[in-house]
Amino acid sequence: TAFARVALLEHLQASALTDGLTGVANRRAFDAAFERELSVAARADAPVTVLIIDLDHFKQLNDTYGHQAGDDVLRGVGAALRSCVRPGDVAARYGGEEFALILPGATADEAVAVARRLRAVLRDVEAPRPITASLGIACQHGAGLSLAELLATADTALYAAKAGGRDRAHLAGVEGPVTGGAADLVPPIPVPRPVGEHAAR
Ligand code: GH3
Ligand code: MG
Ligand code: MG
Repeated sequence: TAFARVALLEHLQASALTDGLTGVANRRAFDAAFERELSVAARADAPVTVLIIDLDHFKQLNDTYGHQAGDDVLRGVGAALRSCVRPGDVAARYGGEEFALILPGATADEAVAVARRLRAVLRDVEAPRPITASLGIACQHGAGLSLAELLATADTALYAAKAGGRDRAHLAGVEGPVTGGAADLVPPIPVPRPVGEHAAR
């Protein structure tokens, strides 16, 4: 029937854009959405942000607990990503154990908040050992870098996060992590200076 054909067509279209294992957008859908959002941002002179997320020491998890356990974790990570974004954002599996988020309209501060939330929800992913990721964030306002250039910028930030010790996010153009590592250390409570007669000593 016509209904069945429409349903089949919709299913085929959805499955061509979705990663079969994790249910998030696949690389192809990610690239198309990113191109679209870059031109929207350029036209509207609006911000757009991309986050690249690479799981830490994932090969070791596969080697220790098996590929099936690795696949289960990837499924959980897909769900964790979906739980961190708002409608209109795009969560994608970029390849292997690498994921990406596109946040249209998000400023750097908002992107850092998402990265912080993502690090927290990853901790709750069911896995044989705690799951952490390193993140690279690149933001742009209006027209500027191409898709490839903005991705390369995020990739450089991701590399810095890996090199800095993993389980953290780096934002392109900012020295040091924006969440994780030293970024989340609570500054010590300052010792009050002595007052009154001891102040002179
Ligand atoms: P790093 O912290 O430097 O990112 O270390 P890593 O081990 O995560 O990085 P590396 O790129 O060396 O290894 C990625 C591993 O991810 C290799 C492969 O075993 C695993 N992997 C990639 N795709 C899949 C998949 O679809 N299923 C499973 N189970 N594992 C995958
Ligand atoms: Mg990788
Ligand atoms: Mg990795």
